Amino acid sequence: MKVHLKQIPPEGLHLEGDEDCPIKGLEKEDVRCAGPLSYKIDVGISGSALWANGSLHQSVELRCVSCLEKFVHEIRVSEFAVHTELRGPETVDLTPFIREDLLLNLPLHPRCDRNGDRVCEGKRVETTEQNTKRKADWSALDKLRLKL
Ligand SMILES: [Zn+2]
Repeated sequence: MKVHLKQIPPEGLHLEGDEDCPIKGLEKEDVRCAGPLSYKIDVGISGSALWANGSLHQSVELRCVSCLEKFVHEIRVSEFAVHTELRGPETVDLTPFIREDLLLNLPLHPRCDRNGDRVCEGKRVETTEQNTKRKADWSALDKLRLKL
């Protein structure tokens, strides 16, 4: 996302829209873009620096660490903020900053049930295991009772 410095009026500029997903090429890390980047950003120039702040929204497909199923996760950055020295007179590319913030907001251990809108199969397996264990415990107790 390139910002043309000449187009920024003294009071700042509001940018809003969709753009190509900026975090492509992370398939090896099980991060796939699932839609465009939505942004609402205010930019302005103060002295020899450019500031920007706003919010970002990016859908990505991740793999659940528990059941290994793919699921769609919404990365929301509500306080995107940049303050960078101007290096050239023409444009500033905000993409590296956006990319960094999106990656920082990725869950380290993504779980498909983190939003509570689905039940993780991995968790279901855990619960079944626990039930089996509990049954085993009871049967041991039953045997003990028989002996008594
Ligand atoms: Zn899961």
